[in-house]
Amino acid sequence: MKIVHVASELFPYVKTGGLADAVASLAGTLADRGHTVTVFLPGYRAVLEHGHAINAERKFRLRIEMGDVFLSGEVRVFSPRANLQVFLICRDEFFDRRAAYGNGERDYEDNAERFIFFCKGVVEALRLENIEADIVHAHDWQAALLPLMLRDAERRHGVTLAMKTVCTIHNIAFQGLFPRSVFAQTGLPDELNNVDGLEYYEQINFLKGGILFSDRVTTVSPRYAQEIQTPEFGCGLDGVVQTRADDLVGLLNGVDSAVWNPATDALLPARFTASNLRGKETCRAELLKRCGFDPAFNGPIFGMVCRLTEQKGVDLVLENRDFFLTETCGLVVLGSGDKRMEAELRTLASRAPDKITLCAKLDEAMSHLIEAGADFFVMPSLFEPCGLNQMYSQVYGTIPLTSRVGGLVDTVIDIDAEPERGTGITFAPTAKGLRGGLMRAIELHARKDDYTAVQRRGMARDFSWNTAAAAYEKLYRDAI
Ligand code: ADP
Repeated sequence: MKIVHVASELFPYVKTGGLADAVASLAGTLADRGHTVTVFLPGYRAVLEHGHAINAERKFRLRIEMGDVFLSGEVRVFSPRANLQVFLICRDEFFDRRAAYGNGERDYEDNAERFIFFCKGVVEALRLENIEADIVHAHDWQAALLPLMLRDAERRHGVTLAMKTVCTIHNIAFQGLFPRSVFAQTGLPDELNNVDGLEYYEQINFLKGGILFSDRVTTVSPRYAQEIQTPEFGCGLDGVVQTRADDLVGLLNGVDSAVWNPATDALLPARFTASNLRGKETCRAELLKRCGFDPAFNGPIFGMVCRLTEQKGVDLVLENRDFFLTETCGLVVLGSGDKRMEAELRTLASRAPDKITLCAKLDEAMSHLIEAGADFFVMPSLFEPCGLNQMYSQVYGTIPLTSRVGGLVDTVIDIDAEPERGTGITFAPTAKGLRGGLMRAIELHARKDDYTAVQRRGMARDFSWNTAAAAYEKLYRDAI
């Protein structure tokens, strides 16, 4: 099949979260399985400066109508592997910036304009490049207008395009909600500027458009596909999602074993496998050293790697501060984001610097070291579309502690619920729930044989992208 992915992030060029990993792995795996894959990405500064893209071919200039003005841009292309091309929609005024969406404190004010331009650039590039795709797969709100724009292009040019469209919701909390005035820039017909179209409580909602007007809608785990149809998890779009229930499916993300494999991971001081865990001890020792902890410390180390946001349950960890201060255990948090959470974690760390630390930055190597060197991985999310770290930690022999929501339910088996199959510890997404999970972790850690058995079961699990990619292939075929 000829498959086009459209996304605002792609590992290793630009990443703020799991979206970048998921799109890169899915596109790469589909290419390896023989499909012709094209990924469209904004030409951010970080991408243009990446070794792969520095010599990207300048394909053609763009002239995009945005309301009553025309804006220029450029399309560049490079090919990082066989069967895979990456097209960059460039316009320096929009994308030559330090970050993808905002400066950390606030989103950029022109995000609507930036991603309308991006989607229109993709439509134009598909036409100029004559890419007759079978599938156009739009990821998240940044690409969600694309299915509508393609159908509109058909109407304008009086043609019928064979391509089918898929919209994937990686996190329904991010919807691309903007003042109604931005509608004019989309160039879409007025009949979409109402409650049956993009309008959402007097605003314009990009994701709503993608959900309503794609041939298929997917999300990143079966449980999350159920949850987003309820008011509790639907973030106001549950009713809209329900109208597409027949065309909605939840397909689990996988683990990219070229990046996340303890037997080959070049970012680690030592490598290891389920049958020989000695390298994991070296990783643990290095982690203790990097954190400034006592090298002889033998209590369990709890690791955490995440954006510091309400979603990730950081406050549940903070509400358990006395646990981490009084119990014989260590805590390593890698993450940045919310300034209040960052300050409170820093204060907590300053009260016990010999066993609690916060590393408030983006650090790919440190994230691998935590996955490999910690004894438990803590993920008390309030909601979680799929989650990747709980899968990485099982692969790395680090037992996950996860709340029972979304993709965490689909990927972690509780050791008490299923003693023969269990790979982790699960709990309700509350401070008390996490507390219970932490206590169970301490008990498990003290029973060495049981701990190792759980660890090995996790390492034996198959989270490969081949399974996920095969599921997407079936979905694409059904749509076609
Ligand atoms: P989300 O997409 O909601 O942020 P996921 O668990 O799906 O959550 O994916 C998060 C990805 O981002 C993982 O690959 C994780 O390792 C990575 N990550 C998050 N914070 C950091 C950080 N501070 N440094 C390095 N990697 C990080």
